[in-house]
Amino acid sequence: MSLVLGIIIDTFGELRDEEKKFVYDIENVCFVCGWDRETLEKYSEGKNGFRNHIKKDHYQWNYLFYIAYLKNKDKTDFTGLESYIWDQIENDEINWFPTHKALVLQRNKHGSHGEETNVVLESLKKVDEAQTETLHQSMMISKKIGDLEDIVKKYKRYKRKQMAAQHRLNTSSMSAGSMSTL
Ligand SMILES: [Zn+2]
Repeated sequence: MSLVLGIIIDTFGELRDEEKKFVYDIENVCFVCGWDRETLEKYSEGKNGFRNHIKKDHYQWNYLFYIAYLKNKDKTDFTGLESYIWDQIENDEINWFPTHKALVLQRNKHGSHGEETNVVLESLKKVDEAQTETLHQSMMISKKIGDLEDIVKKYKRYKRKQMAAQHRLNTSSMSAGSMSTL
C-alpha cells in the first residue's frame, strides 16, 4: 500500500516539475526562435527587449494564424513557398521556423542590420486582406474547433522538438567544453 502511495506521490511530483518547466518556458523563452529572456534582453536596445521581441519580431500567433491560413487555402492555389511550408507542416518538420535566429541578435553581433528572412511573415504579408478577414471571422465563429485542435497538437509537437533540440545543443556544447579542458 505504501509502495503504491509512494509511486503516486512521485508521479505527482514529476508532473508538477514538468508543469513548472513548462510554465517557465512559456514565460521566459521565445516560442518561435527558442532564445531565452536573458539573452534577448541583453542584446536588445532599450527596455523590455524580451517583450518587444515576442510581440513584434516573433509574434507566435502569426505563425498559428499562418498554419490556419494554409490549412484553409485551396492547395491548388498555393504559391511555391506555401507548398514548401505546408509540406513541412504535414511532415512535422520545424525547419521553416527561424530556430535560433533572431533579428536582434544578428543586428547586434554584426553591428549593422542583419537580414533575417522570415519567410512566414513575408508570405503572410502577401495574404489577400479579404481572405484574411473571412478566415478571421470563420475562426471566431469557432466552426473550426477541430482544425484548431489539430493545429495546437502540431504546435505542441513542435515545442517538444524544439526543447529536445535545445537539450541536444546544450549537451553537445557541454561535452565539447569538457573535451577541450582535457
Ligand atoms: Zn524569437
